[in-house]
Amino acid sequence: MNYWSQFFIPTLKESPADAEIASHKLLVRAGLVRKLGGGLYTYMPLGLRVIHKITQICREEINAGGGIELWMPHVHPVENWTEGPRWNVAREIMFRADSAGAGKRAPAEPEFVLGPTHEEIITPLAKTEITSYRDLPKNFYQIATKFRNEIRPRYGLMRAREFIMMDSYSFDADDEGATQNYLRMKSAYERFFTRLGVQFIAVEADTGVMGGNFSHEFMVPAEVGDNDVLYCDESGYAANREKAASAIVPADLADAAPAGAVEEFATPGVVTIAQLEAAPHSVPAGSQFKTLVYIGDGKPFIVILRGNDELEEAKLGSLGFSLFRPATPEEIAPVLGAKPGSLGAVRGTIKDPSALAGVFADHAIRLVGNGVTGANKDGFHLRHVNVARDLAITRFGDFRRVREGEPCPVCGKPLKLRRGIEVGHIFKLGTKYSERYNAVYTDAQKQSRLMVMGCYGIGVSRSMQAIIEQSHDADGIIWPWAVAPFQVLVCLLDPQNEEAKSVAQKLAAAAEQAGADVLIDDREERPGVKFKDADLIGIPLRVTIGGKGLKEGVVEVKWRAEKEMAKVPVGVAESHLA
Ligand code: ATP
Ligand code: MG
Ligand code: MG
Ligand code: MG
Repeated sequence: MNYWSQFFIPTLKESPADAEIASHKLLVRAGLVRKLGGGLYTYMPLGLRVIHKITQICREEINAGGGIELWMPHVHPVENWTEGPRWNVAREIMFRADSAGAGKRAPAEPEFVLGPTHEEIITPLAKTEITSYRDLPKNFYQIATKFRNEIRPRYGLMRAREFIMMDSYSFDADDEGATQNYLRMKSAYERFFTRLGVQFIAVEADTGVMGGNFSHEFMVPAEVGDNDVLYCDESGYAANREKAASAIVPADLADAAPAGAVEEFATPGVVTIAQLEAAPHSVPAGSQFKTLVYIGDGKPFIVILRGNDELEEAKLGSLGFSLFRPATPEEIAPVLGAKPGSLGAVRGTIKDPSALAGVFADHAIRLVGNGVTGANKDGFHLRHVNVARDLAITRFGDFRRVREGEPCPVCGKPLKLRRGIEVGHIFKLGTKYSERYNAVYTDAQKQSRLMVMGCYGIGVSRSMQAIIEQSHDADGIIWPWAVAPFQVLVCLLDPQNEEAKSVAQKLAAAAEQAGADVLIDDREERPGVKFKDADLIGIPLRVTIGGKGLKEGVVEVKWRAEKEMAKVPVGVAESHLA
């Protein structure tokens, strides 16, 4: 058992000036975290206890889902990234970790970077370590620190620059196996979030339309969330706004865009970005390509590439992997001749397909971005294509967003809308990374085949705050039992009273015996201060021992989530706790 006087819980009466939302205020006021700098936080002893609990539940459920834990470096040689499929996009949010110093200047290009995620590390590892179909399937995970230089770190742990993530990567011999692994992880996530005691909803997320890949985001419903979730109680359909929007793109274009826009997208023979990526040499010079562009409203710019499985990169804005760091939708929209919240098509002529091999998807996005943020901001990206000459932006029109009340795409009943916090994400990747790193294995027929991958992330530190956002009142946090830093608070109103102290220890021991973590508030403070602090830090069960009550042989038992308190004989309290 822990004594408050010997532990360290620096509670505050006032919220920090930069805290806009309840959970951020409470994190700081309850002494769970302290800020070092923007998006950088120390987990104080009480906060760390919560992190450890979430981490342990996560570990148990991912293990049960077939995960095998390992630990990868957070300092990455930059080659791992430059050889990967998304360096140009990802580098925008990556911290450099260079070997400057000792008289040596930082090089112009990074030598080392801090890991924002680990596909670029684990895929080459799997390539060397897994050689035969007998080694498959495998699912490796870690629970560790991630670094992202977010455009706008905010809301405390919600969008931090350094945060804790469970990240997992599955490798399978074939597509069917990868789907099975994905479903196992989806169940593991459902068990995990259920055990946390947080309300959540798994929603379909977009992956582009490349066959066989799919994705779900796990959302905690909350007004302060960054995401719109459209869902239907009737059919069980639930999707994030982008996914729901992409499902209705043709209809909306038909409504809003000039006649012919939809047909144009259905036209065979027009090159998609995916074709160009996959087989640049088969694309004749002079071909037309096309892609859809969505001007977000409120969020940074989002580009949807149809027929392309690079959506993780394509959804640049919402991922924070933004190429358009300085450009807001309001800035972009007039340049493209469109309003925020509108959807359009970008079409162009491909002059030299081979010059674009392998990088075109990034460039297509950059071209739009450069058209907005100023040509040659990123000089070499304009090497092959001149925006003004080669690209025509056509077919912008008002994009009727999916709204609350529209027909559910499954059953036709009205969709409902909620805001949500993304706490987890699962993604069936297919062979995108294994192709790039040539991660192959030998099958039973001695044929060399690409491993089929999935990747999965849980925001551990963000989940901690999402729980608070969902479970608090005017007085403070209300921790669900499973993640509470302590589950039972024994509040000693008169710590000098020897009898009260020994009752406290007896009750605490009984609760500990039963598996609860117990904190004894033995501080020399007025009862009012103790009760305020108790409510603030949100321990689920409080047992108050006062001299007066003891004379009657009772203690006061109160659940944090309930208003009523009960006077209970000491013996009864002991047997209840035990
Ligand atoms: P977001 O859309 O909020 O930027 P993301 O889609 O970029 O998140 P993923 O790459 O899917 O995030 O990472 C997996 C999980 O890591 C997310 O579901 C989220 O819970 C968590 N996460 C991502 N970025 C941050 C951050 N900056 N701070 C805290 N947690 C984060
Ligand atoms: Mg992001
Ligand atoms: Mg996201
Ligand atoms: Mg995500």
